[in-house]
Amino acid sequence: IRYVLYQPREDDLRCLTLFGHFGFECLPHQLVNRSIQQGFSFNILCVGETGIGKSTLIDTLFNTNLKDKKSSHFYSNVGLKIQTYELQESNVQLKLTVVKTVGYGDQINKEASYQPIVDYIDAQFEAYLQEELKIRRSFLEYHDSRIHVCLYFISPTGHSLKSLDLLTMKTIDSKVNIIPLIAKADTISKSDLQIFKCKIMSELAHNGIQIYQFPADDETTAHVNSSMNEHLPFAVVGSMEEVKVGKRMVRGRQYPWGVLQVENENHCDFVKLRDMLLCTNMEDLKEQTHRQHYERYRCYKLLKMGFTDVGPDNQPISFQETYEAKKQEFYDRCLREEEELKHRFMQRVNEKEAAFKEAEKELQDKFEHLKRVQQEKIMKLEEERRQLEEEIIEFYKMKASSETLQPPVCTNLRKD
Ligand code: GDP
Repeated sequence: IRYVLYQPREDDLRCLTLFGHFGFECLPHQLVNRSIQQGFSFNILCVGETGIGKSTLIDTLFNTNLKDKKSSHFYSNVGLKIQTYELQESNVQLKLTVVKTVGYGDQINKEASYQPIVDYIDAQFEAYLQEELKIRRSFLEYHDSRIHVCLYFISPTGHSLKSLDLLTMKTIDSKVNIIPLIAKADTISKSDLQIFKCKIMSELAHNGIQIYQFPADDETTAHVNSSMNEHLPFAVVGSMEEVKVGKRMVRGRQYPWGVLQVENENHCDFVKLRDMLLCTNMEDLKEQTHRQHYERYRCYKLLKMGFTDVGPDNQPISFQETYEAKKQEFYDRCLREEEELKHRFMQRVNEKEAAFKEAEKELQDKFEHLKRVQQEKIMKLEEERRQLEEEIIEFYKMKASSETLQPPVCTNLRKD
């Protein structure tokens, strides 16, 4: 049997008017129900110097005291503090993971400051890739720990970005969605803040650093998102303190000259950040993480492992073909290595054999020499013995002749 693959062209598709209710208009509801049942997860990475206000801002964002200890400035290297929380709003469950830098900016070595961050982001991608490559995948139970957004806290110096800020953002901008924030924005005047914002944006552009842009391709959010892009970096203030303003209690920071209200858009961009992050663009942040950043990592890793979509002749190559080619390559390499090993082994055996033969020959020569010396000694001794015997015979002869010449004096002596 031959199968002919028929693929309809775009203009072959016909639009039909339905005469009745079929029910597939409920598909979006099914999606919503399933998503609510499964719950959502969101992972935030907070990068910023110690004491810049990371914990306070996260608490303010979720209006919860997430009970975090104060960090010290005296860590010898940068670490990451990872905490996961289960939050619920109405019937929506959110598994929130907050990763915060510890000791960031407290060391002189700048590379050592951002490397743990890069390693962490990559490790989460790697874990996801490993799950994807498994035969029995379990994405339903799998806790996706890939970072969806990096809130980068900039010091409110009013001057410019620090070299560490530029270095870190440049290194991670292809791995994560960065939203830059001017921290503790209550410490900088309104006019200085505008100038500082422009300065930061131009420095980011000048250094080719890609920050997350709120998407303007969805008509429901395009307007608000494009206007929010104009406000970046957000100038934020965090506080869990309740302060009385008129008859209302608001979250803010009380100063001798007045109250800074965290949720007042005239005072800071906190509400803008919260709306953009949690309300409008959380799904887009997750999608960008998967489609853009994870895809880049996956592609890089698979290429590094030797997989490719096109062969040397630019023809498409299937996973199976690549696998077979890799298997053959591996087999050939094993054979080559085995041959090399055998060759090296034989070479060493020959060398050892030659050395043994040499040693044996030396021993043999030594033995022959000793044998010769021994024989010479024996011959010499034989000669000496012969001479000695001759001398003894001579001596007895002389003795006998002397006895015959002298008669014995005493005749009664016993004869031995
Ligand atoms: P982290 O080390 O970055 O987590 O900083 P923390 O959130 O622990 O804040 C360190 C200190 O800065 C605390 O005393 C906070 O009250 C204060 N702080 C936090 N956010 C702000 C802010 O927006 N403005 C001002 N002025 N102080 C803040």
